Amino acid sequence: MQLQTLPYLQSSHNSEIGEELYQLISKLYPICRSITGNGFRETLNIINQHIPLQIHEVPTGTQVFDWNIPKEWNIKDACIKNSQGERIVDFANSNLHAINYSIPVRKKVSLAELKEHLFTIPEYPDWIPYRTSYYQEMWGFCLSHNQYLELRDEEYEVYIDSSLEPGCLTYGEYFIQGKTADEVLISCHACHPSLCNDNLSGISIAVFLAEYLTCFQPHYSYRFIFIPGTIGSIAWLAINEENVSRIKHGLVLTCLGDSGSFTYKKSRRGNTEIDNVVTYVLSSSAEENKVIDFFPYGYDERQYCSPGFNLPVGCLMRSPHNSFPEYHTSADNLDFVQPQYLAESFFKCISIVNILENNRVYYNQNPKCEPQLGKRGLYEADIDSQDRKLNRMAILWILNLSDGNHTLLEITQKSGIVFDEIKQAADVLLKYNLLASSPKDGL
Ligand code: ZN
Repeated sequence: MQLQTLPYLQSSHNSEIGEELYQLISKLYPICRSITGNGFRETLNIINQHIPLQIHEVPTGTQVFDWNIPKEWNIKDACIKNSQGERIVDFANSNLHAINYSIPVRKKVSLAELKEHLFTIPEYPDWIPYRTSYYQEMWGFCLSHNQYLELRDEEYEVYIDSSLEPGCLTYGEYFIQGKTADEVLISCHACHPSLCNDNLSGISIAVFLAEYLTCFQPHYSYRFIFIPGTIGSIAWLAINEENVSRIKHGLVLTCLGDSGSFTYKKSRRGNTEIDNVVTYVLSSSAEENKVIDFFPYGYDERQYCSPGFNLPVGCLMRSPHNSFPEYHTSADNLDFVQPQYLAESFFKCISIVNILENNRVYYNQNPKCEPQLGKRGLYEADIDSQDRKLNRMAILWILNLSDGNHTLLEITQKSGIVFDEIKQAADVLLKYNLLASSPKDGL
């Protein structure tokens, strides 16, 4: 599979794909999502317009390892009314105003009592914080600190028209059958309401990556999952425990639409193929990047990399969670993510997939001394059959290191030659039967 040669991926199409990624985010942005409920289902229905999802419903109370699937939460409306009956804090203006998983409430309260249920960010007085209370039943509102300061000492009415009842946790899955049963897992949390970088950017890129891979029969099988954070990956792992050994590589995608440089958080094992591939892809570009070791906080990699699973799953981000002030606030909006950054992130993912797909181990079929390249026309040859310049050093490196113990990426790293030239030289050697996927009989 030669992903990089497709017209869809030429640089002139950057802005086009960037706009498409952004449009999907814009469509998903207004929906009030949570770890369960109809906002999550509506999100999956929109994703389903791009890729046919298998939708799973896990009933409330189902035990998943040490956890239980919580009650399902839905919300229709929420507001704080002043003594004149004006809706001064209104869910219709921002779904961040109601604390996610607030229990229903309708009552008159004093300013003092109201304040016990209000949350703001004094350092950023125009922004509304994003807060959740999944596992502790409570009600509350989030608002800008400026609005909070304007509250007068009067009687208020608080109203949250929500429901917290037995139902289901919903998640979506899309599977692409490759040539092998070995799988690449792409995981996105899809439980945040109107927040763009965390997590709509990851969802959008995963959807287009899935759509793109559907055009091929890739070497690996690819499994895309759209799950609520934490409880979703725990549920998914509990349900799929018997099959997780098929996962050979995995990525959690999130925070991929902001202007920050790329950050890759390695898997717990730290030296897996996905770790090496992403590190190589990021270091191959002139842009600044950071590769950080695994730590047990962050996104769903925490569950995939728990010691009982220890899967080769890393996390690709631009600015990591908590490192930008807009994180988990109303400022993580449609201005904070931009098509050009989304497009760059998308192409990084394509580059990663391209190397994973082509990173094979080969065997030199003539390992006793160097084969005579000249008599095959390979020593003096400048170009391959597609008129691409052949790198003779790449040929010599591959022949020397194709002993069944080195992948093409490892040969790339040892030789200092770029992966594409190593891959191209390997293709030529395969064509001349100097290289094969298995050792030669008798050697
Ligand atoms: Zn988050």
